[in-house]
Amino acid sequence: MTAPTSPANDVLIIGAGFAGLHMLHQLRSRGYKVRVIEAAGDVGGVWYWNRYPGARCDVESLQYSYSFSSELEQQWVWTERYAAQPEILRYIEHVADRFDLRRDISFNTRVLRACFDETQDQWLLDTDTGLHISARFCVMATGALSIPRLPDIPGIDGFKGKVHHTGAWPHEGVDFSGQRVGVIGTGSSGIQAIPAIAAQAAQLVVFQRTANFVIPAHNGPLHDAEQQAWKQDYALHRERARQLGTLYEFSDKAAAQTSASARQAEYERRWQKGGVNFIHAFNDLMVNPQSNETIADFVRAKIRSIVKDPAVAESLCPNDHPLGTKRICVDTGYFETYNRANVRLVDLKKTPIRQVQAAGVLTSEGLHELDALVCATGYDALTGAVLNIDIHGVDGQSLQEKWANGPRTYLGLMTQGFPNMFIITGAGSPSVLVNMVVGIEHHVAWISDALAYLRQRGMTRMQASREAEDRWVEHVNEAANRTLLPQANSWFLGANIPGKPRVFMPYVARIGVYRQECQDVADQGYAGFVLGTGPAATASSHKF
Ligand code: FAD
Ligand code: NAP
Repeated sequence: MTAPTSPANDVLIIGAGFAGLHMLHQLRSRGYKVRVIEAAGDVGGVWYWNRYPGARCDVESLQYSYSFSSELEQQWVWTERYAAQPEILRYIEHVADRFDLRRDISFNTRVLRACFDETQDQWLLDTDTGLHISARFCVMATGALSIPRLPDIPGIDGFKGKVHHTGAWPHEGVDFSGQRVGVIGTGSSGIQAIPAIAAQAAQLVVFQRTANFVIPAHNGPLHDAEQQAWKQDYALHRERARQLGTLYEFSDKAAAQTSASARQAEYERRWQKGGVNFIHAFNDLMVNPQSNETIADFVRAKIRSIVKDPAVAESLCPNDHPLGTKRICVDTGYFETYNRANVRLVDLKKTPIRQVQAAGVLTSEGLHELDALVCATGYDALTGAVLNIDIHGVDGQSLQEKWANGPRTYLGLMTQGFPNMFIITGAGSPSVLVNMVVGIEHHVAWISDALAYLRQRGMTRMQASREAEDRWVEHVNEAANRTLLPQANSWFLGANIPGKPRVFMPYVARIGVYRQECQDVADQGYAGFVLGTGPAATASSHKF
């Protein structure tokens, strides 16, 4: 890499989803020269890529939106309780237009390599378009769920029909009318896509490896009166969300200390309300396996009551992980779909896939002939997009090597040895465990304040200290191990990627607690970070 003598930009941001756009707006309004590099053809991040039928948010739209502009939040009108992908994308495009963001974004450009130049305190980035660009700081707004993963099933390349991943859906849409379609995967994406595809296709075969806990969304139109009432108290709602992650209704009671009938009544009440809030019915559900079994039993009974064929219902009942240890899915008509005559469930635990052939999917029970295959098979989550870039820090150290046994960060925001590189909602932060827009806005504000702190003091370098990072990693591990979360083979701990180190990546803490921890660090002059200028960056070293 050839190093320019001085950085052309103050900050480079990689990614133009919710995180990158907000970071750009914040920094530009504080007077920094900023450039965003985005692989996609336009803004939106996951909402640009995930155009599969049925795609929508599972955090209510009024909360799954930016809070940084009160005019924006008052003027934007949501039409549904949980907005569908086209509406969320329209919202993000509106934000880009409203704040004139596109002029500082290079689209259709993927960052391949990033190197820290210690002599100049700057990051140098190489891209797939030949663009070579530098800046003092680099912000990874690359997304926690942005590297789709196709299943490594033998023969898949030889399938004669089209293979689509939900996370890279064709912009022109896919018409399944009259087709025999197979869906592999029954996580959140599969559960949203399956009812929509079943309504269009001639036949649908669902290949399920692990049954999931699915809670009804009870989605519907968002009426004017309800929306206006919410908007009147928006500031209050937002402040509560900054403490709770989203406006969950938390309980201070333990299931273990509640009678069976009262428990049942509470589960039923929450089931009727719908949404991921279901898991907060009691405060011991994520720590006490017996308590968790009571809520899991409730959901299994619901599945058996909805699905008419008892054998299919049994296959759909999750029984190999506690409820909530894989991300809860939120549906519209998912289990009901299995009552349709054109839908067939293949339980891969009983009849595993042998291979994909030109004509379809071969399992141990025979060939399922198909015209199209949909892979709702998930992502290389949290670390995938960061490690997809060949990143080198101080002394040329490679991030891939540093994280070979799992990600190591301080507060989830920085990693030692890679100065001036910030990560938004990465491993070691609450990230995917909370409403992600709330987490993104917090990180954007914290990074902006840190840069202002450096600027005011004429400093050009900031990095995590090894000691602070070691303690944080230990703290994150302890927090996860106090819960049932590490018990499932989930993408939270990389179990979906062969060879990925099994480390629980997000930080299990209420976002309000985490925000306070980050604030305390900032208030103590960025305790645990090493701040300074150039190779001798020791001017203001603080103990964590
Ligand atoms: P992203 O939206 O993933 O954007 C990252 C961008 O970086 C992408 O556009 C990508 O192209 C770009 N990029 C990555 N690497 C490079 C590179 N090397 N060079 C250039 N560009 C690069 N969260 C919730 O809280 N509630 C929900 O209801 C919810 N629903 C979801 C539904 C789906 C289908 C998916 C996949 C995720 C959902 N999420 C949800 C999580 C979602 O990831 C976040 O809510 C949020 O959209 C993340 O925004 P982001 O900007 O951090 O990342
Ligand atoms: P996912 O949760 O990782 O689910 C992937 C599914 O594919 C799982 O059922 C998995 O089975 C299956 N699978 C993977 N490889 C397979 C193989 N080789 N053979 C058979 N089955 C295979 O991915 P996702 O559904 O895309 O969701 C990822 C995350 O994105 C969600 O958890 C959520 O955070 C977010 N999301 C949110 C929404 C929403 O409702 N707002 C919608 C979509 C996505 P195993 O479980 O056995 O591994």
